[in-house]
Amino acid sequence: MKFDLIIVGGGLAGAALAVALRRSALRIALVEHAAPRRPNGWDARIYAYSPASARFLDDLGVWSHLEHERLCPVTEMRIHGDAGGELMFSAYDSGLSELAWIGESSLVHVEIWESLKRQHNVTLICPATPAALEIGSDSAMLRLGDGRTLEAAVVVGADGRDSWVRERTGISATVTSYGERGVVANFACERPNRGIASQWFRDDGVLAWLPLPGNAMSMVWSTPDVLAEELLALEPEAFCARVEEAGDRALGKLELVGERAAFPLRLMRVDEIVRPRVALIGDAAHAIHPLSGHGINLGFQDARALAEVLAALPSWRDAGDLTVLRRYARMRAEEPFLLQYTTHVLSRLFGRRDPVLSTLRNLGMNLTGRLPVVKDALVRYAANGRF
Ligand SMILES: Cc1cc2nc3c(=O)[nH]c(=O)nc-3n(C[C@H](O)[C@H](O)[C@H](O)COP(=O)(O)OP(=O)(O)OC[C@H]3O[C@@H](n4cnc5c(N)ncnc54)[C@H](O)[C@@H]3O)c2cc1C
Repeated sequence: MKFDLIIVGGGLAGAALAVALRRSALRIALVEHAAPRRPNGWDARIYAYSPASARFLDDLGVWSHLEHERLCPVTEMRIHGDAGGELMFSAYDSGLSELAWIGESSLVHVEIWESLKRQHNVTLICPATPAALEIGSDSAMLRLGDGRTLEAAVVVGADGRDSWVRERTGISATVTSYGERGVVANFACERPNRGIASQWFRDDGVLAWLPLPGNAMSMVWSTPDVLAEELLALEPEAFCARVEEAGDRALGKLELVGERAAFPLRLMRVDEIVRPRVALIGDAAHAIHPLSGHGINLGFQDARALAEVLAALPSWRDAGDLTVLRRYARMRAEEPFLLQYTTHVLSRLFGRRDPVLSTLRNLGMNLTGRLPVVKDALVRYAANGRF
């Protein structure tokens, strides 16, 4: 089967790339292990969608189809240091209607797939597993486990942090384990969250409470493996008591809703995100500490940038040409690196029990809070993905 573009991985980034190319003349194959499904109740994976991501999803025609009663706008963000440092961001003060939207991963994922199913230039190949990839001078050949062969000018690896495409094309990745896990869980809360997201930099990791619609909240606690194990092993009541206490009982009594889960945290950098006939997007191209809540926002911006480059090509131009793909690499050279660096430094800075460092980091937070220029720049970055 012949295509212009093969996308391996139909997660949020890969599926969004395909939809972003819906008006192009490109023939696209999307190869995915399994189609997304909505769980019963609340999804354990909850993301903070930045305003830039919301705009991108709106451009894709997806945003307006989401169940908006399952999305919660963040109107305020409060960051607490481990020794009295405080930083507060408010949408109102920054002239924005919201700082971010909190919503389930599957809510957006399923809706993007609904668009894909209606898209005339996409062939969904799912369930499918790639078995071999050959990069030739004129085209790339992807052989699937069932023997089918796909040919295209360019192959996009959107297959997540253990990317098969990355590995098969020999793009090396430097992976640093944080020795931590992100423990995630959702809670019904005694008190209303009023759209406030809170984050505590603690001795034992970074705790984030993200507001959900109604009196509910989603937690990500990035914490050393040992404590993560301990949290997961606690009885639900003891677990809730521990989370209440860690978050200064800001939302009163908590009741666990659904299952807890934990994900290993690691930093992953690649030397290059493009090669002749190959491009990487999303977690295949970068993995960051979840404390900034920006993982999927980076993935969406990758998809937006690559779609822009490919859609602008005249029909005679080879989309797999390295000079073409380098345009995408240049567009994405700065933002992932900047975020990886900042979140890495922050997670290390707050992960050390040194009294001098503790004073400095909390002083830094208080100082940032008193400098409107710095604060505004941070809010602008969170909202638009640039300073
Ligand atoms: C604890 C935790 C909390 C997080 N919180 C946030 C947050 O608040 N905000 C945020 O923006 N991000 C957050 N993230 C990051 C976010 O989960 C990822 O950035 C995002 O899922 C990446 O999307 P992706 O499409 O690139 O990859 P993935 O979601 O990993 O999708 C990859 C897709 O490729 C498919 N696939 C893989 N291999 C193959 C193959 N060989 N063949 C076919 N298909 C394949 C998979 O089935 C999957 O559908 C968090 C991450 C963690 C660990």
